[in-house]
Amino acid sequence: MIVGFLGLGAMGAPMAARLARRGDVVVWNRTAERAGEFARRFGARVAGTPRKLAAQVDVVVTCLPTSREVEALLDGPDGLLAGLRAGALFLDCTSGDPATSRRLAARLAEREVAFADAPVSGGTNGAEAGTLAVMVGAAPDTFARARPVLEAFGSRIQHLGPVGAGHATKAVNQALLAVNILALGEGLAALVKAGVSAGAAVDVINQSSGRSFVSEALVPERVLTGRWPRTFRLALLDKDVAIARELLQETGVDGPLLEVAGELLAGARAELGEDADYLEAIRLAEQRAGIEIRG
Ligand code: NDP
Repeated sequence: MIVGFLGLGAMGAPMAARLARRGDVVVWNRTAERAGEFARRFGARVAGTPRKLAAQVDVVVTCLPTSREVEALLDGPDGLLAGLRAGALFLDCTSGDPATSRRLAARLAEREVAFADAPVSGGTNGAEAGTLAVMVGAAPDTFARARPVLEAFGSRIQHLGPVGAGHATKAVNQALLAVNILALGEGLAALVKAGVSAGAAVDVINQSSGRSFVSEALVPERVLTGRWPRTFRLALLDKDVAIARELLQETGVDGPLLEVAGELLAGARAELGEDADYLEAIRLAEQRAGIEIRG
């Protein structure tokens, strides 16, 4: 089985590297140098266009910023649709939106290509280690075909329902992540101003009911140390929360909390720019309070 991978970004590159370790992989990336460098490092082949990639593979995997970029790769003389073979499998690991995925699935079905939305969680470390959680939306037979491919980079692979269900679940997960980041940033800023040691406060929160992945892993490793690595763009988290808000609107569920979180993230994105890391939202909380959360 030959796998084609499009989108060698922070997540895509380590995911594709794990696939390349197991078998034959063809890659395409918008910035061609990245694809060439990847191919040299991991022994993959490079396709000059999405069409050329699609023509030589059984499975296509995409990991791009949003569903918009995925859909844009389908069309045109060099697009995926011009090359895809009947019977192929299309796995979109982008954190995308359910409505676009349903449209993509319908367009691909016309070519007898099966589609699954399969967004991932676990960060760049999880991608390197092959321990990502994968949230799959697909018909049951498509899920059964997708699972062995997804196992190259995922260790917890969950079928959540029909096409779109994976993206919807991922968006809600991201909304929870965003709320935790924003709330902990505000709370810790207040504690530091009140004279409490940030390190001690995080320690005790992590033994208490307010703990979360943000308090247990992200803040100790990245904020308290002042390391601020760049692994996931704030712009992408903002996009994710917007998808969660759309889901609430579509289902007629009131979402005042996510509305505020979305506004705060959009403001942070405008202030910090497209390349800022998602935890830099906490930096803004620090700046506004005139303190630093270290310890
Ligand atoms: P990056 O910004 O690091 O990489 C984006 C990739 O998409 C690059 O390969 C980029 O190509 C490509 N790309 C961007 N725009 C286009 C376009 N118009 N046409 C074709 N290719 C394009 O993003 P991540 O890898 O961090 O994220 C990818 C997806 O995974 C997102 O949906 C994100 O929300 C999700 N995700 C990210 C996580 C993380 O920790 N980073 C964790 C879990 C999910 P080029 O090299 O040319 O810029």
